[in-house]
Amino acid sequence: MMFTTSWDDGYADDTIIADLLEKYGCTGTFYICPKQQHGNVMLRTEQVRAISIRHEMGAHTIEHPHLTQVTKEVARSEIVRSKEWVEQQTGKPCTLFCYPYGDTNEQVAHLVQEAGFAGARTVEQFAFQSDGPFYLPTSLHVFPFPLRPVLNRRCVDPLRRAKPHLQRLNIPLYKWRGWLPLAKALFTHAYETNQPWFHLWGHSAEVKKMRMEHVLDVFLQFVSTHKDVEHAPNSAVLHA
Ligand SMILES: [Zn+2]
Repeated sequence: MMFTTSWDDGYADDTIIADLLEKYGCTGTFYICPKQQHGNVMLRTEQVRAISIRHEMGAHTIEHPHLTQVTKEVARSEIVRSKEWVEQQTGKPCTLFCYPYGDTNEQVAHLVQEAGFAGARTVEQFAFQSDGPFYLPTSLHVFPFPLRPVLNRRCVDPLRRAKPHLQRLNIPLYKWRGWLPLAKALFTHAYETNQPWFHLWGHSAEVKKMRMEHVLDVFLQFVSTHKDVEHAPNSAVLHA
């Protein structure tokens, strides 16, 4: 099974995530965007370069808009310019894209393909195989579970969203008590049922704000104890 991770928005805390991934031989795909969000410090060019030597970098637009809610021309420009921006930052070809808020449709996916990307990630969770290279889902978001953090009132209750998936996957109820037991149970499910991959996804600034560095460390350590897990960037799982 392949183990892949991705990290959105280009926060300066991505450097901490990159180091943590390396500690356990894991790899990441970092979808960076120049727009400052939620008052967080963003990566500087030299930090992007340093991460890009060891990990994969993807594009995530310039202004972080909902791509289905802007005109086709604006969407095209956001997509094309973000590819150029990432390539300027890293000095390497950029082949992957991530839809802000996971917001996409057939037209947006087509624009991404037309811009020369090989694939694009959504924010779908509880998946262990691809829905096509331009609809790459994830397995789990690094986010407090089962309760919604008080700080983030806009977010849908994580348990309500996860419940039908966890029932479908037969994840026992006692594993729903926190993010770490849930992450371990989902990984074990994927590993034991020979799924093509497990895809962990998050935002470095959120991991820090929600104090999830430790559980993330423990989870990556848990993954590293499994035999025959191949650490792969997002580009390697697009067709699996
Ligand atoms: Zn984003």
